[in-house]
Amino acid sequence: MARRRQLYEGKAKILFEGPEPGTLVQYFKDDATAGNGAKHGIITGKGVLNNRISEYIMLRLQEIGIPTHFIRRINMREQLIREVEIIPLEIVVRNIAAGSIAKRLGIPEGTRLPRAIVEYYYKNDALGDPMVAEEHITAFGWACPHDMDDMVAMSLRVNDFLTGLFAGVGISLVDFKLEFGRVWEGEEMRIILADEISPDNCRLWDAKTNEKLDKDRFRRDMGQVEEAYQEVARRLGILPEAGNGDHKGSDTMQ
Ligand code: C5P
Repeated sequence: MARRRQLYEGKAKILFEGPEPGTLVQYFKDDATAGNGAKHGIITGKGVLNNRISEYIMLRLQEIGIPTHFIRRINMREQLIREVEIIPLEIVVRNIAAGSIAKRLGIPEGTRLPRAIVEYYYKNDALGDPMVAEEHITAFGWACPHDMDDMVAMSLRVNDFLTGLFAGVGISLVDFKLEFGRVWEGEEMRIILADEISPDNCRLWDAKTNEKLDKDRFRRDMGQVEEAYQEVARRLGILPEAGNGDHKGSDTMQ
């Protein structure tokens, strides 16, 4: 069968046309970038692990009533998703100070925050994803106040649920980034969770030792990056059966 048409290539994923209207195929690459593309590397097996981890988390979130773009996993590196109109925002939820908040506000990394803090960033590579306020978001029409209420409520529910899910396997959920998109059902517009949830966009620390089990190992040249992602998958009970089924394309694409 002919290879599917590629619609978009991002830093860590490729989107292909899906088998039916309103669907896409999301392909997970091994590529890793940091510092808005300033640093690039390959983490062998990352795409396979993130495909599995994100599938697992999206399915658990659907079970508690969070609408997501995930439909089903197709193979080791691909999943079928709903096509959405991406809202150009990155919503970050933080429980423990790390990364940019630690630097910006001078809070020692590892300090528990008084409550979960939600931040917004404008998704724009050319500008380096600048932090924005709700004022900018509504004034420039990226989302209306009602959309914001929906996204913040969903983000906090995701935080509560994932904090518990990871705590159950000995992992502290430090912070994470979510993206949302719009879908239309007749006249009705709904906002659903999109993108992925994986160690690429969460900070995950071992609950006992605070060892980092996420992309900071790559960002900070700490080594053992793939092993850390494997450890997250192993604790969640979803490590792929074997390391040799590493498809480079979908069943229908080969
Ligand atoms: O760098 P910073 O501390 O702002 O990141 C907060 C969280 O958002 C981290 O879990 C990081 O992995 C995630 N993030 C992301 N994509 C970005 C920026 C941050 O997934 N472009």
